[in-house]
Amino acid sequence: MANIYFFSKQNAQQVYDCCEAILKSNSFYNIATEKEESIAIYVSEEISLELECKLTNVDGFIRKLSTNSKMPALSEMSPNGFTYNGIKFGDEELNIIAGLNAIDNIKNVESVFRFLNSLGLSSARAGVYKPRTNPYSFQGLGASILNDLFFLADKYNIKAIAIEVLNESHVDEVCSALEQGNYKVGVILQIGTRNAQNFELLKCVGKTRYPILYKRGFGISLLESMQACEYIAKNGNNKIIFCLRGLKSIHASPHRNICDFSQLPALKRMINVVTCSDPSHSVGNREYDHNQIMDIAHVTAQAVISGTNSLLIDIHPNPKESPVDSNQILNFQQFSSLLDDINICRMAFINRKKLYSNELIKKQELDHFVS
Ligand code: PEP
Ligand code: MN
Repeated sequence: MANIYFFSKQNAQQVYDCCEAILKSNSFYNIATEKEESIAIYVSEEISLELECKLTNVDGFIRKLSTNSKMPALSEMSPNGFTYNGIKFGDEELNIIAGLNAIDNIKNVESVFRFLNSLGLSSARAGVYKPRTNPYSFQGLGASILNDLFFLADKYNIKAIAIEVLNESHVDEVCSALEQGNYKVGVILQIGTRNAQNFELLKCVGKTRYPILYKRGFGISLLESMQACEYIAKNGNNKIIFCLRGLKSIHASPHRNICDFSQLPALKRMINVVTCSDPSHSVGNREYDHNQIMDIAHVTAQAVISGTNSLLIDIHPNPKESPVDSNQILNFQQFSSLLDDINICRMAFINRKKLYSNELIKKQELDHFVS
């Protein structure tokens, strides 16, 4: 299907760069009109989703005449992130969502929340329902723990807890416990990698008003996961946090998954979601290198230095006792050191941003001088 895109003329250079990419992709374009203020481009064939995103992300893009976008709802989302229960999520933030992979007992929930509060953190993670490969493995304590969980969150000033939901009745249980109990805490509904293409569940959480932590499918393409998020946005929910967590592969060894954090900037270029990175599931162990730096710390650093908007990290007062994923969970001391490391990397990212924006200014000044 053909399309006409309108751009503001001040971004002519970016537009021409896109045109070059259109030609390289074997599609055709014409300049439909070129006025003093604006420029319109006619693209005669359907183009790839990536190219479509590239075009619609040009600053000053006005609108497309016919919408054949495969992700119209995601395309319309604000680039500024969102605020939920007093917590800001977006490009200016680095939210750390740490906590219990699986709640084993309420005593450990209290100790984790007290610890997070002492560090000034107000988001947490707590597994209530666990998707397990082996049907005989611990499946989570389930709904009976929710009221105690929310009560303790309020006691330690935790403002949002990420809870994975595996089906629609979990969504009901979590939302009704929260709403009926009149708690101050809020929830982030997590869709795990195994449900990355459970379209009915995606539609269901799309109809709620809670933020959704969507974990990228571990065996599907990035675009397929983005289209799954379109289900959430299309159903009215634009509070989406898109989490990279590594891909399943025989080549992942010695890690649990192949870390996919290198795709963070590409993801951000294509859709306006808040990004998240899960180093615990990507690495899956607590090994150190010869510099006494954990592999988990190395991949966390990669995510932060590339500008991830949030991190999802497993911690436990005594990791070996966790009934789920015990090999990848950090104790409090390890997590405290990781936080210091995260601060170093965040500063590095901020400096990198400054470096490249200065480079851009220099380039614009030079272009101006040359022309
Ligand atoms: C989890 O976060 O506990 C989890 C099950 O993650 P994933 O869906 O990424 O495996
Ligand atoms: Mn897990």
